[in-house]
Amino acid sequence: MTHWSRRKVALLTAAAGLAPLAGTALRSTATLAQARARVVVVGGGAGGATVAKYMARASDRLAITLVEPAAGYRTCFFSNLYLGGLRSLDSLVHGYDTLASKYGITVVRDSAAGIDPQRRRVHLAGGDSLAYDRLVVAPGIAIRYDAIPGYDAAASGAMPHAWDGGPQITELKRQIESMDDGGVFVLAAPPNPYRCPPGPYERVSMVARYFKAHKPKAKILVLDAKNSFSKQALFLDAWARHYPGMVEWLPADFIGGIESVDAKTLSIKTAAETFQAAVASVIPPQTAGRIARNADLADESGWCPVDPSTLESTRYAGIHLVGDAIIAGAMPKSGFAANSQAKVCAQAIVAALTGAPAFEPRFFNTCWSFLAEHDAVSVGASYRVEDGKIAAVDSFLSGFEESTETRANAARQAEVWYRAFAEDIFG
Ligand code: FAD
Repeated sequence: MTHWSRRKVALLTAAAGLAPLAGTALRSTATLAQARARVVVVGGGAGGATVAKYMARASDRLAITLVEPAAGYRTCFFSNLYLGGLRSLDSLVHGYDTLASKYGITVVRDSAAGIDPQRRRVHLAGGDSLAYDRLVVAPGIAIRYDAIPGYDAAASGAMPHAWDGGPQITELKRQIESMDDGGVFVLAAPPNPYRCPPGPYERVSMVARYFKAHKPKAKILVLDAKNSFSKQALFLDAWARHYPGMVEWLPADFIGGIESVDAKTLSIKTAAETFQAAVASVIPPQTAGRIARNADLADESGWCPVDPSTLESTRYAGIHLVGDAIIAGAMPKSGFAANSQAKVCAQAIVAALTGAPAFEPRFFNTCWSFLAEHDAVSVGASYRVEDGKIAAVDSFLSGFEESTETRANAARQAEVWYRAFAEDIFG
């Protein structure tokens, strides 16, 4: 069968609502060598879409199905720039058409509702089920609505976290834009570990950028669940330089932790005092995406343990996980990290299902943060597996005394990265 016709069969069988290959759930390596092995990927974000694409690029002996409920993926990365007026919302959205048309991936617009690891099937919310030889679960994070008294899903509409790529980002922008000049924007930053360690502080910088231009009497108060944060000295320096007198950061030891919030009055009660917000972005603690926890892939920490060399679950054979949902040793929860893990995972699955050679895994991460329009900083590292864990082998962080030209260059690099990164995942 030609490469083209294999792809066509996969697309046609999917269009007909059939599993790409019939047969028993568990198939021998010999059988797999003759047939196309079925790989189902749950979640079409930075992690899942990359695994699907890189498996398809590496081998035409796999029938790959990507399950994702959204028609397009809206990146959390650079969503702070949307708040700051440096990006449109449309520029953050990426579709799945190329993954289907160029790489022959069957994209199923549905949600995984359950996983049966014994029968190797994924049950979809729409009623269908998909058989797999290998499954990749990449659902990102779930917001913990049980963690802060008063902050449930309904309250999050009034005090948007805007931390999951959903529609809250537009609501948060609307609230910021309709806030009176002189009002207080309160950002409640989460405890570790959480998605995008520098993200809350980049959000502060971008909201400050907007206030400086449009509401110069506004104030920003950061109520932190931690006593220190990523790129702290760089952010504190930038806030003093770009937005003098506007931003105040209060660490956990000072406020004694957030005790509760009241979404009706937009007040936030800490052990020290109750703070009144004109607009509040409350970013609660997080866990692995719901499907991963419901399928028993997470441990008591709420995150999913994996073998770092293959990204295979240590709890269920044949199921791999990538991205924010996993326990990734020294790697942060970032899109860059999810994409890097995805490439290692794709290679491990292709090796396991087709006999292709496997290589020693290496992982990479770089996270840029915008402090102002032409002022960006970065942090990053490369990683390898040491003693069964992902460990950093070298790392870098933007210098405190960098020139304005260096910082402007970093801002340009970040824009270039975003374009190349979106292309790497979806193009
Ligand atoms: P996601 O990208 O969230 O993808 C998960 C996908 O799974 C979603 O499309 C979802 O719809 C789908 N899904 C969930 N459940 C199911 C289900 N049951 N069935 C089917 N599909 C399902 N990272 C960077 O590298 N650089 C940055 O500059 C950066 N900035 C950020 C700024 C902000 C404000 C935030 C919030 C995050 C930022 N990040 C950044 C982090 C980055 O967005 C995440 O780390 C990354 O998206 C994680 O990828 P993922 O694939 O694990 O999850």
